[in-house]
Amino acid sequence: MFFQRTLKKEISCVGIGLHSGAKVRLVLKPAPSGHGIKLQRIENGVVLTTIPALSEYVVDTSLATTLGREEQVIGTVEHLLSAFSGLGIDNVLVEVHGPEVPIMDGSANPFVYLIKTAGVRRQVEAKSYIRMVGTVTVTDGDKWARIGPQPPSSDASLSIISHIDFDHPVIGSQSYSFSFSDVAYDRQISRARTFGFLHEVEWMKSNNLALGGSLDNAIVLDEFSVMNDDGLRFADEFARHKVLDCFGDVSLMGMPLIGVLEANKTGHALNHKLVQAVLAKTEAWERVTTGELRDHSQTGFAVPRLVMDGS
Ligand SMILES: [Zn+2]
Repeated sequence: MFFQRTLKKEISCVGIGLHSGAKVRLVLKPAPSGHGIKLQRIENGVVLTTIPALSEYVVDTSLATTLGREEQVIGTVEHLLSAFSGLGIDNVLVEVHGPEVPIMDGSANPFVYLIKTAGVRRQVEAKSYIRMVGTVTVTDGDKWARIGPQPPSSDASLSIISHIDFDHPVIGSQSYSFSFSDVAYDRQISRARTFGFLHEVEWMKSNNLALGGSLDNAIVLDEFSVMNDDGLRFADEFARHKVLDCFGDVSLMGMPLIGVLEANKTGHALNHKLVQAVLAKTEAWERVTTGELRDHSQTGFAVPRLVMDGS
């Protein structure tokens, strides 16, 4: 049986907010079973609001995923949520001392490092999952996302297949297929950085957006090539980053998923639409705990070995 997980101890870091350019302190704190992931917006030591990492609190998906409550917002949450989900962490209180989660290097890897440095503690209560039994599809023009049941023969909990197609010589058409198990998230997904095009970056900066954006926290492409001196971390880093974003965005369902998610040219907006559509179509899924999963002989998944703690 797999139990809920939190951190062994508090850990913090400081980074730059991508859109605000502000220096932001981030503190990750252990939390009890059933707490879930919650983010606190803190300003000058005062807690302005506490926002559960659930889709009902999503207020904007245009440039990043932004959560809001009581007229306060916390931006750019998706890479941090992706790291929690990717390492199977259920319960954390996140203090965000600024308007958005720091962008770090544009991937989820610095958050994975923080979590592994704090250590992972197994808790006493079993995990609950959303297991897909039907299919849900959302579309927006030629973009679409679909989630359906995992075949009984699969030993993965969540599989994500991402297709992208950019009319750019470095990107072109890419697909990445990921089955969540063992250390796969850490090794294959967490290091993939966000990306943008130089003309977009220039437009955003002239509109007071992406003020903290630089070659240190994104892959930037000009008309023909990657501008970063060190190039890419993977030839298909772009498609891998879409999987990373998807992990973070679908974690806003509030429980880990068992299913197969296929996404074509999606972004945060369509990911959010998919989450809402799944939650609304209750006949397409069932809530199961890890104890019940054993009875269905689906137990071989979702345990990232790197962060195992005797579970
Ligand atoms: Zn991203």
